[in-house]
Amino acid sequence: MKNIKYFKPKTIEEISKIKSENDARLLSGGTDLMVKMRAEIFNPEVIIDTKGLEKEEVKFYNGRVRIPINTTYDELIKNEEFNKRFPMIVEIIKKIGSPQIRNRATPIGNIANASPAGDFLLSMYLFDGNVEIKPSNKIMKISHFVTGPGKIKLKNDEFIYSIELKEMEGYKYYYEKVGKRNAMNISIISIGVLLKTDNDGKIEDIKVAYGSVGPTVERFEEIEEKMKGKKVSKELFEEMGEEYMKVINPITDVRATAEYRKKMVKNLLIKAYYELIK
Ligand SMILES: Cc1cc2nc3c(=O)[nH]c(=O)nc-3n(C[C@H](O)[C@H](O)[C@H](O)COP(=O)(O)OP(=O)(O)OC[C@H]3O[C@@H](n4cnc5c(N)ncnc54)[C@H](O)[C@@H]3O)c2cc1C
Repeated sequence: MKNIKYFKPKTIEEISKIKSENDARLLSGGTDLMVKMRAEIFNPEVIIDTKGLEKEEVKFYNGRVRIPINTTYDELIKNEEFNKRFPMIVEIIKKIGSPQIRNRATPIGNIANASPAGDFLLSMYLFDGNVEIKPSNKIMKISHFVTGPGKIKLKNDEFIYSIELKEMEGYKYYYEKVGKRNAMNISIISIGVLLKTDNDGKIEDIKVAYGSVGPTVERFEEIEEKMKGKKVSKELFEEMGEEYMKVINPITDVRATAEYRKKMVKNLLIKAYYELIK
């Protein structure tokens, strides 16, 4: 095994410099990075630990939350304000890994990993998530930032410094991930739904995101648009499920066949309907 150099810089500029001058990988919680290095999927010459940076707090402003680098899942679960404003995301986080994993792992690591099965990544698509990049100070919408499995738009000297998500007040929500053993496994398929209705039970807004059925988390705003103004019913969700089956083309892998995943696209939406009308 080659010698790996380890750095723990204290400033954004230092991280940026070391990253741009070396074959380097950033280390946040390390729960993805270490697994990939052990499996020799990643073989960096340099590791840059981001935990040398001064710790910033999670902040709430103008109906959004800003989650800075090095914030762990555990810290979000324990944050009362975050629980009050983002109960769906807390539910999603509680299904990630184990308490030991959540104690170290970070949402930013999950996003940088860009796995279509990434649970936190899915919530970025539902909650209008943005990524803040340093040192350029660029803010990028999640759907522009993630371009494929493991692929994100970062230049050599850049890294993710924070993320922000929008509060979705007055929405009902549903989240489910199907896996062989719930939390400790990569999901076969996952779904997240946010639904807002008016007093007559008509859809004011709906957001649906699927994980593990394509190269990235998938959301189709044109299908969501078609549902607006219609009354919530099982028939409507079935119809919507059919539409998703037309546009989602999952693959077969070691975890499940494409056919199974496609069927689940519709079935999970119908299940969501029953949970959302409770
Ligand atoms: C047993 C086990 C169970 C797991 N279960 C789940 C699960 O249920 N759901 C799920 O989604 N994931 C799961 N994971 C994967 C992992 O825990 C999560 O993706 C986690 O959020 C990664 O965060 P991290 O801070 O540990 O990332 P790290 O491992 O530190 O980093 C992940 C990747 O992002 C890069 N990176 C880190 N920080 C930055 C940054 N600031 N800017 C740019 N790039 C950066 C790293 O170089 C690396 O390539 C599991 C992992 C294990 C080992």
